[in-house]
Amino acid sequence: MIQASARSRCVTVTTTEEKPAVDVDDDVDLEFVEMIKKTGGPNIQNCYQCGTCSGSCPAGAFTNYLVRGIIRKALLGLKEEVISSPDLWFCTTCYACTDRCPQDVKPTDVIKAIRNVAVAEGYMLGPHQKVAAKVVEAAHAVPLDKESWQNLRVKVGLEPVPPNASGNPWAIDEIRKITKKSGFEKLIGYEEFMKAQKEKAKKKAEEKKSQKKE
Ligand code: SF4
Ligand code: SF4
Repeated sequence: MIQASARSRCVTVTTTEEKPAVDVDDDVDLEFVEMIKKTGGPNIQNCYQCGTCSGSCPAGAFTNYLVRGIIRKALLGLKEEVISSPDLWFCTTCYACTDRCPQDVKPTDVIKAIRNVAVAEGYMLGPHQKVAAKVVEAAHAVPLDKESWQNLRVKVGLEPVPPNASGNPWAIDEIRKITKKSGFEKLIGYEEFMKAQKEKAKKKAEEKKSQKKE
């Protein structure tokens, strides 16, 4: 409803229909907040929903991602809704919200803690799974495994491969052992992911082949 006052020249925009932002039903998990506090977001209950985090968030400027909303839903115990949402993975961990939160909630850490819960329950967005798989197979989340990148390093006077684990076969073996023994591989669904990747590559190659024939 729009109300206009000629005297003050003010326009007030209100709504006659009150819609709840969130439907809270029986799917409330009262342990969820405690879980988040234990896995890295101990200050989540300090949040008073001022919105400074969302106002500072570059990810929210380009997507529907709303960090304040995730925190609110988490505080309401809407675990399944929060951990199954792809939005959870849109945070770039830039820490702008953490720098500005007046309540020291550390929203970045809260998001990371919720992601830990999500992964433990089998939810992970594809690109993040891909990065985790890179750690397993190349000992680095962003390995320089393309010749063109190595050539670029050489061009600016660096060694082709940086002096980290990804350039040392023995270190890659060690990290592989660690990721296997610690359960990291299983947690990220590494084998299933690699199988799917291979099938995808095979399908792509077949499509390319048939296109050439045509
Ligand atoms: S800035 Fe802090 S207090 Fe404000 S909504 Fe975000 S988390 Fe809550
Ligand atoms: S750390 Fe994540 S939630 Fe916080 S401002 Fe950056 S992108 Fe947004």
